[in-house]
Amino acid sequence: MREIKQTFGSMVFNETVMQERLPKEVYRKLQKTMNEGKVLDVEIASAVANAMKDWAIEKGATHYTHWFQPMTGITAEKHEAFITPGNGGILLEFSGKELIKGEPDASSFPNGGLRATFEARGYTTWDPTSYAFIKDKTLCIPTAFCTFDGLSLDKKTPLLRSMELIHQQAMRIIRLFDHEGITRVTTTVGSEQEYFLVDRHLYEQRPDLVLCKRTLFGAPAPRGQELEDHYFGMINERVKAYMQEVDEELWKLGVFAKTEHKEVAPAQFELAPIFTTANIAADHNQLMMEVLQKVALKHGYECLLHEKPYEGINGSGKHNNWSIVTNNGINLLEPGKTPEKNARFLLFLTAIIKAVDDYQDLLRVSVATAGNDHRLGANEAPPAIVSIFLGTELTNILEALEQDLPYNQTYERSMQIGVDVLPEFPKDTTDRNRTSPFAFTGNKFEFRMLGSSLSISCPNIILNTIVADALSQFADRLEKSTDFKQDLNKLIKETLHQHKRIIFNGNGYGEEWVEEAKQRGLLNIENTAKAIPYYIADKNVKLFTKYQIYTKEEMFARDEILFDTYSKTLHIEANTMIRMASQDILPAAIRYQKELLTTLQMKKQLSLESDPAERPLYDTLSKEIKDFTLAIQQVKEILETTKGLPVHQISSIYADKLIPLMDTLRQHGDHLEEMVDRQTWPYPQYTDLLYRI
Ligand code: ADP
Ligand code: MG
Repeated sequence: MREIKQTFGSMVFNETVMQERLPKEVYRKLQKTMNEGKVLDVEIASAVANAMKDWAIEKGATHYTHWFQPMTGITAEKHEAFITPGNGGILLEFSGKELIKGEPDASSFPNGGLRATFEARGYTTWDPTSYAFIKDKTLCIPTAFCTFDGLSLDKKTPLLRSMELIHQQAMRIIRLFDHEGITRVTTTVGSEQEYFLVDRHLYEQRPDLVLCKRTLFGAPAPRGQELEDHYFGMINERVKAYMQEVDEELWKLGVFAKTEHKEVAPAQFELAPIFTTANIAADHNQLMMEVLQKVALKHGYECLLHEKPYEGINGSGKHNNWSIVTNNGINLLEPGKTPEKNARFLLFLTAIIKAVDDYQDLLRVSVATAGNDHRLGANEAPPAIVSIFLGTELTNILEALEQDLPYNQTYERSMQIGVDVLPEFPKDTTDRNRTSPFAFTGNKFEFRMLGSSLSISCPNIILNTIVADALSQFADRLEKSTDFKQDLNKLIKETLHQHKRIIFNGNGYGEEWVEEAKQRGLLNIENTAKAIPYYIADKNVKLFTKYQIYTKEEMFARDEILFDTYSKTLHIEANTMIRMASQDILPAAIRYQKELLTTLQMKKQLSLESDPAERPLYDTLSKEIKDFTLAIQQVKEILETTKGLPVHQISSIYADKLIPLMDTLRQHGDHLEEMVDRQTWPYPQYTDLLYRI
């Protein structure tokens, strides 16, 4: 226990270290910058840089890097050594300027046309609200990444902008009530991370896993997850040792890794941290994914973060728990015990309901990837339809409010917001529905549509911005009010009336819901190719540009990158399938066919009666081989016909035509696997991949 206390955050340049190592005045000014989002001046930066460098070198670091999140969704780093020649030998240096600003070549990161090729420079600037840390003997400085003229090339800049925005708009609402010393509002996030482990040796024998992180072929194992015995089950020693090391590595980096357990599918697990400020949570989730993968190698595993590594087995997602809290620790999504606090809670809740309904499309786009398309709507993950789960009690309360009806006989007259106490509703009943994409879980919302490999930045940028927009519209109305209580009641009633269609407490996996959602006029965006264009819909461009989260240019660039990534992912998968099919599967099937044929032939020569099963076996195999060969050809042709087309066109052709052809190819391949001699089969099978861990 003592050891954990000592190692926790030992590789982080955190509050305690800063207080110890920075001159008082520097520390105070840095604090001010961090708390108020002020700009840092160079002199302070130099003092901080110096202290950081000394600390890092004492901890064994030799290099530093600006650590950033380009639009690939993963993190990037370019290491520089501390050493510089000087005094006839070497000096170890790190200046304030180097701390504040870095200058990586931006040309090899996706930019969606934002950066002309003649201007390859990009800038990284320190985000002092996220602590620097040491990883692999390198001092990592969390930074934002933008072009020469300030257009953002990363996921952090807009996230920080959206956090500032929701602070401003939420403060306007808070000032309408008793502010209780509230000066700053921030969004908090806790992201639960699912992943699969596979034996590294088996993984290496499968080109699909190596190249695409998911199996493109593979007949189901005789045992799947039907016994439902994996969830929370016992963890074997090897996995336990792995998890322990993951925790320790994360603790050193100051990540509050808290719960680890087995998930629903065989070989699937989950890691959940304790929640923290949104931008730090985004940094930490990136670190979690990185550490999960790195430590896996040391234990002879590969950690798969893909949304659907195995067909027929649950995929992996990420739950983004999101709330709004104040500088003095008040959770604004906590229904309070007094009328005044209830009123504030109800106003925030109503804003979220409005935001989610108005911007269903943006929330859907924020989680749209080729990998996640395998999960959403597949009866293991939420449907592709965005809706809110509130639980029966809270929904009934809102209904009573909206319709001026008494709630549960508690009130003989209808309730007045800001005057009456909100009837108590049992908290633990709010979390039973696991099929909802966006569920209220007592004092936070859980956005459950995220894929496991996704950066959480984008969904949080969108959540912050759309909720801020609703709050801003509310503030516009209420700030002008002369009868606050009456106008507040009216606003909440009106908004609930307009947006209650988004509330759904039923089974999100049910067929009936698809029909009902349609009746309610909710969007059902089936796949990524269809989702992406919504991103640049007029109303969405208006929203983001109004609040300067993105410029129009930045949005179009991101739209382009989404299409590009989607189509390239599918292109790589299709090519990998073709290669596996032609070079491994087909030859194996033909070898086996030859063996059967030889048997038949020999029996005939020796005038032996052939087994009545042998000929049909040969015929079925031959037919499968023929169909398989044809399917390879069809996949090849569709790739050929899309060459040179614009990415959005390629994307829809891939979604509508290529994916079904890949499915057919896989079906035939999997039939072959079930027929062909196991010794001849070129790849480890599902039984090995899922159960030998
Ligand atoms: P589940 O029941 O979905 O498995 P848990 O209750 O175990 O979820 O954890 C949910 C996650 O929500 C944790 O990561 C936790 O830190 C996070 N969380 C709790 N409170 C808040 C909050 N106020 N803001 C953001 N995240 C929160
Ligand atoms: Mg959860």
